[in-house]
Amino acid sequence: MEQWVYLNGEYLPQREAKISVFDHGFLYGDGVFEGIRAYEGKVFKLKEHLQRLFNSAKAISLNIPLSQQELQEKVLETLRKNNLKNAYIRLVISRGEGDLGLDPRKCPHPQIIIIADKIILYPDELYEKGLEVVIASTRRNIPSALDVKIKSLNYLNNILAKLEANLKGASEAIMLNQDGYVAECTGDNIFIVKGGELITPPSWIEILKGITRDVVIGLAKRERIRVREESFTPFSLYTSDECFLSGTAAEIIPVTKIDGRVIGEGKAGKITRLLMRKFRQLTKKEGVPIY
Ligand code: PMP
Repeated sequence: MEQWVYLNGEYLPQREAKISVFDHGFLYGDGVFEGIRAYEGKVFKLKEHLQRLFNSAKAISLNIPLSQQELQEKVLETLRKNNLKNAYIRLVISRGEGDLGLDPRKCPHPQIIIIADKIILYPDELYEKGLEVVIASTRRNIPSALDVKIKSLNYLNNILAKLEANLKGASEAIMLNQDGYVAECTGDNIFIVKGGELITPPSWIEILKGITRDVVIGLAKRERIRVREESFTPFSLYTSDECFLSGTAAEIIPVTKIDGRVIGEGKAGKITRLLMRKFRQLTKKEGVPIY
């Protein structure tokens, strides 16, 4: 079935939705984006995603020519146009067409793109068996160079780490910050469980403040699980009772091997499974209705 893509106020068939080769999103990764999910006819945490998108845009002085409310309506309209109830939505704002120089002032028209597609997930069995991951030697960007709180179109830092995972036959790569503390994965946040407590790197270190991460923290607290946002080193990963990743696309997915060390019992742990279940229940309950 032909897919409709929103491009600057128009809905175009997928093959006709095209961007200039002079677009600075393409030439320089100059732009911002969000990945959003819709479950059973409702868009999960849409306002939070839009807020993060506007914050990312603000940080790079990119003026989004629509209000948050207008952009929300466009997202919903794109889903309706594609007849989707369960979907992955990619919302992209690029700096727009300019010349071959870097100067953003030469790009007067930011491009707004909304793609709504079916979600491709990790296979079901991995949600039981867990992922094998490695720690990448590529460190997470430092904020004084490029703050990773900006969800920008430039993901090379993450891709370099992902390449390391690929080379080692692992599903994902854990990235450390410059000081050697665990930061996050290439497209997901990370949690460990130790002695019944849930621990995740604090939001002030080099992580994207994941919306799923916030949901997980909220769910854990509601289940009376103690949550600590605290820096830790790979030692804590290797010796954890449970480990899992969180992200919009992956949701909550267990990690059962890190650099060859088996985590816990080598399958999804008890707290991980509880949070996975609670998370799925929440996605069915909450969200902005599409229809
Ligand atoms: N870290 C990075 C680097 C990411 O790209 C993502 C996915 N957007 C996340 C964490 C998870 O964030 P969220 O839960 O908001 O999808």
